[in-house]
Amino acid sequence: MSDPKSVDLLARAERVIPGGVNSPVRAFRSVGGSPVFISRAEGPYLYGADGAQYTDYVGSWGPMILGHAHPAVVEAIVTAARNGTSYGAPTELEVIFAEKVSALYPSIEMMRAVSSGTEACMAAIRAARGFTGRDAIVKFEGCYHGHADFLLVKAGSGALTFGVPDSAGVPAATAKGTLTLPYNDSGALRELFRSRGSEIAGVIVEPVVGNMGVVPPAPGFLEAILEMCKAHGAVSIFDEVMTGSRLSLGGMQERVGLRPDMTCLGKVIGGGMPLAVYGGKRAIMQKVAPLGPVYQAGTLSGNPVAVSAALALLGLLDARVYEKLESLGARLEKGLVDAAKRNGAEVCVQRVGSMITLFFTRGPVGNFEDAVKSDTARFGAWHGAMLRRGQYWPPSQYEAAFISAAHDDALIDATVAAADEAFAAKQ
Ligand SMILES: *Cc1c(COP(=O)(O)O)cnc(C)c1O
Repeated sequence: MSDPKSVDLLARAERVIPGGVNSPVRAFRSVGGSPVFISRAEGPYLYGADGAQYTDYVGSWGPMILGHAHPAVVEAIVTAARNGTSYGAPTELEVIFAEKVSALYPSIEMMRAVSSGTEACMAAIRAARGFTGRDAIVKFEGCYHGHADFLLVKAGSGALTFGVPDSAGVPAATAKGTLTLPYNDSGALRELFRSRGSEIAGVIVEPVVGNMGVVPPAPGFLEAILEMCKAHGAVSIFDEVMTGSRLSLGGMQERVGLRPDMTCLGKVIGGGMPLAVYGGKRAIMQKVAPLGPVYQAGTLSGNPVAVSAALALLGLLDARVYEKLESLGARLEKGLVDAAKRNGAEVCVQRVGSMITLFFTRGPVGNFEDAVKSDTARFGAWHGAMLRRGQYWPPSQYEAAFISAAHDDALIDATVAAADEAFAAKQ
C-alpha cells in the first residue's frame, strides 16, 4: 500500500482521468496496490507525495540514464525556455541535433524529430510503405512500438496468421496489414518472406526487447531480418526507442555492428522531454514531405526546449558512462540471482547493459510465449515488498528495469539486500 496522500490523490485522479493515470502501466493494476504519486526526483531517487524516498529503477521508463534533474540538463532547459518555448519555424538547434544523431547513428543519413516514440514508429512505417508501395508490415510478438492502430497487434504465436487487433477500437482491416511472428524465430521469418515477400513493406523489431521484459536477440536473428529485407526489397526498421543511447551511445546497432534501413529513437535521445526521432537511408527519407509524397508533420516537432535538453544530455554521455552502467548492471544481476538462490525462488534474471528483468519463471526467456510463463502473482508480491523497502521497481513483470549512472555500488547492494528480504517475505 502506498502513502495516504497518494491514496487520496488516486481517488481524485480516478474521477477525471481513466484509471487515474495518463499511461496505463502507472496504475499498478498488474501488481496490486496503488501507485505512489511522485512529488519530485533527483539523481537515483524519486520522492513520493508524502516525501518518502525511493531508489528508482524505472527512470521514467528509460530516459533518465544520468538520473533525475541532472544540473546540466536542467540548466539547458531553463536557458532555452527563456528564449521562448516554441516557434513553429526552423532553428539552428534542430540542425545541430540532427547532425549529432546522424554522427552517433551512421545508418541515419536523414531524420525527422517528432514528439514521441509512438509517432516515430508510426511515421517510420508510413515512410516504409510509401517507399516500397507495399502495405504489409511484419512485427514480432511481445514487441511494443507505440500505440498506432496497426502496431497494436501481437496475434497468436501461430506464425503466418493474419493480424488480430490487441485493442478495442482498432479496425480488423487495419490490423490485417500487420503480420506477426515469434521473436527470435529466424526460420519463421524466412518462411514468411518466401511465401509473401513481395507484399512486405518492412519489418520492425526491438533489437533487444524491453517491452515483454528484457529479451536479447538470438545470434543471427537481427542479421536474418536485414538479409531478408534486402533480398526482398523491404525496409528493415530497428525500433531503438528504448535501446538507443541506452545500450551504447550509438544504440544496439552499434553494439552489434548492423545498419538497418530505418531507426526509431526516443526516451534517452529526447533527454527526458517529449522528443523522438525517426530516420535512415536518404532514399527513404527523401520520400517524406515536403520532398516527397509521404505526409508527416508536427506543431511541436523539434521543440527548442526539448532539443536543448537532449543536446545537453547527449553531450554528457561517453564510454565511461556505459562502462559504469555495465558494472552496476552486472552487480545487480549477480546480487538478484544470488538472493533468489538463497531463498529458493525460481527466477531468471535477463540483462543487457543497464536494462534488466527479473522473471518469475525458470527461463531462459527467448520470446513472448516463454515470458508469459512467469508467475505474475509472485512478481506482484515481490514488487510490493520492494516498494515497502523503498525500492521503486517497474510495476509490471513484463517491463525492463533501468539503472542510471547516478546509482552506485552501495545503492545496488542496498537494493539487493531489500530483494533478499522481499524474496523471503510471505504474502
Ligand atoms: C517506449 C517505446 C515506444 C513508444 O514510445 P512513446 O514515447 O511512449 O510513445 C516505442 N517503441 C519502444 C521500443 C518503446 O520502448
